[in-house]
Parts: sequence; C-alpha cells; structure tokens
Amino acid sequence: MSSVDLIDFDPLTVPDELGHFGEFGGSYVPETLVTPLAELTAAYREASADPEFQEDLERELREFAGRSTPLYFAKRLTEQLKGAQIYLKREDLLHTGAHKINNVVGQLLLARRMGKTRIIAETGAGQHGVATAAGCARFGLKCVIYMGAEDMRRQALNVYRMRLHGAEVRGVEAGQKTLKDAVNEAMRDWVADSRNTHYVLGSALGAHPYPMMVRDFHRVIGRETRQQILEQAGRLPDEMAACVGGGSNAIGFFFDFLKDESVRLVGVEAGGRRIHPGEHAARFSGGRLGVLQGSKTWLLQNEDGQIEKTHSVSAGLDYAAVGPEHAFYRSLGRIDFSSSSDDECLNAFQLLSRCEGIIPALESSHGLAYAVRRAPEMSPDQILCINLSGRGDKDVQEASRLMDAVENLRKENE
Ligand SMILES: *Cc1c(COP(=O)(O)O)cnc(C)c1O
Repeated sequence: MSSVDLIDFDPLTVPDELGHFGEFGGSYVPETLVTPLAELTAAYREASADPEFQEDLERELREFAGRSTPLYFAKRLTEQLKGAQIYLKREDLLHTGAHKINNVVGQLLLARRMGKTRIIAETGAGQHGVATAAGCARFGLKCVIYMGAEDMRRQALNVYRMRLHGAEVRGVEAGQKTLKDAVNEAMRDWVADSRNTHYVLGSALGAHPYPMMVRDFHRVIGRETRQQILEQAGRLPDEMAACVGGGSNAIGFFFDFLKDESVRLVGVEAGGRRIHPGEHAARFSGGRLGVLQGSKTWLLQNEDGQIEKTHSVSAGLDYAAVGPEHAFYRSLGRIDFSSSSDDECLNAFQLLSRCEGIIPALESSHGLAYAVRRAPEMSPDQILCINLSGRGDKDVQEASRLMDAVENLRKENE
C-alpha cells in the first residue's frame, strides 16, 4: 500500500482479528497467556460497543481525570522561534500529571466489568504506576506495581506517591533494572494468577489486544485536538508531533488525523547521548524487526537478537521496542520519525519553563525539542501542534542534577 491509498484506508481496520498491523504486532506469548488474552479481547470488544461503558468512561475521564484538556497557543514560544504557530495539547494538566490516566481509567473500568479484583502494572518513569495506583484507590481495587530498581532511584517521589495510594511497589533487580525488566515480572505475575488479576499495560505495546485497546483509550486526545484547532484556528494543523516511548500518547494524538493527508505526523524518539548502541532509545535509527514481549516490531537488538541496552534522560522513553502500530504507519510513509538528544531535551525543558510558565516532562521535552528545530523552518501562517504528554514536576530533581553536571563541566573547561 502506498500513502496515496490512505485516502481509502480505514485506520479502524487495523489491527486484524489476530492483532496484526500489516506485518507488525500479533501475539507472541506463552501458552498460558493465550486464554486470558482472548478473554480480554472479547470483553474489550463487547465493552467498547456498549453505550453504558462509554458513558462510564466519559464520566470518569471528566470527573476523575479532569478532561477535556486545553489546546494552548504558545504565544511567547512562537515569537521566540520565529516560525510556525505552536499549539500545545495540555495532557500535563490531567490528574496524576500525564496522559497515562486516560488508558488507566479505561482498563480499570474494563477490569471491574470482568470481575477482576486485583490489578498489576509495570512502570518506567513511575507515571503509569502512579496513575494506576490512583485509579485503584478510586475504584477500591488491590494494586501491585512492578518497577525497575534503577527507575525507583531515578523517580523516588513517584514510588512514594504509589505507596500513598495504597499500592504495593515491587522493585525489580533483574537485567538493566528498568522498564523492560518490570514488564517481564508483571507478565510472570499475570501468568500465575490471570483468573483474578488484570494486567494494566501502560503503553501501546505488547500482545494483542493491548496496542489496539491502549490506542483507543487515548484517541480522546486527538479527538479533542481536532475540534479545538478547528474552533481556535479555523483549520487543521500543518504538522503534529509527539514523543514516542511505547507510542501511546503519540498514536492517541495522531489517530483522528491519519486520513488528513495535509497534516504531517511526526513521532519523536529518544536520541540519548548519541545514536550509538547502548546510548539511545531511537528504535527507528539503529533498530531492526524482531519480537519482544508479545509483539513483532522495531527493536534495538544486536546481531544475535539480544536486546540492546538503551539510554535516555527520560525514563518514560527508555525502552527497546516501539508500538507495532507506529512501525506499521512508518512502513506506509504516513508517520515520520525523528529523534531529540538528551541535551536538546534539557534545553527545551528550560525554554518552555522560562517562556511559557509550563514545566514539561522530560519525555514531552523531546517533542518540544523537535518543535525548536522544526518551527523556524516553517512559515508564520503554518500551525505546528505538539502533544505535551505530561508535566515535569517529577523531573525537576533529575534535571537540576544533570544541568549542574553540565555547568561543572563547562567551568572545568574554562
Ligand atoms: C510514559 C510517558 C511517555 C511515553 O509513553 P508513550 O506510551 O510513548 O506515550 C511520554 N510522556 C510522558 C509524560 C509519560 O509519562
């Protein structure tokens, strides 16, 4: 299929029954997870067609999560960059501080409907863990969060927040002690007790139906953006960009624009220190097709298929695989990909804080760093929308530590 055929292509026809987005996605899992995943798929399809479920979801998103979020014209940032008009979708204003709550609320309502009493989740930056823990407190569900020990160190405040909501946080000491290792432990737990337990996966990743279901729960981001930009600017944006870890905020933001050929869509990965094995997490620069944690997609792996180490200044983008739907739309030429380095991200983090009074998450700062590069290449009558996936309060300590290190290095070199 060429991108021209996209006009007739219905994005809702992927994935197919087995979870394939073209050659990507699917369900590569141990035998013990086949039945739980099939039950989840059936329950999800039934729920999504039930107006009562949709009503509950809308109410929870409004009353608990705080939707809708504003589409914000970043006037001073636009003036500073001297190019396209920049709009920010303010997912940072949601309860618990990021887009993650959209998916959590959806999956918890589904788990409740399925009669599950125990919830497990993995977390990287801690944002998904906090959102899940808060949601479980809201619905009175027992909650266990798996988190890499290295991430627990980087995001100590989020560990405390999860515990405050009554969740049990289990540190994972295996492997690199980050997100991938936490996902492995959560899958192991689910295999052992899938009868009572629902696994709330936090991104558009993993085996079917997760990439589809997580995408659907985040589509509200793009649906609102579309309505808001039409109201505020009277037309669609020329370009939209979002950071891509697993890809949930990006696919939710892009989905309702996939058929609008005039809107360029750009996913921004974590370029880390540089694009060199072990020093970044940009799967589309240096990755290859493979299977990880249930899904066929682009991965950072070595010649032998061993998963490579990853690095990013932001824990939430520090993952070796990308969601299969992104791999699919990239293969069609519908979504383009770029990456921002750690340094560019820290600069964007400071820039937005200073010129708009908004502290962005380090993850979101990758999308902003793209805007810093891109906006000046565009004309002042063009529109660039960035998804501000989360707020940066969780990152201020890590950012100040990193910026002090940069400052000290500068002084030493003087
Ligand atoms: C988790 C997280 C991300 C990355 O996850 P996606 O699934 O790629 O959206 C991005 N931004 C924030 C603020 C996050 O918490």
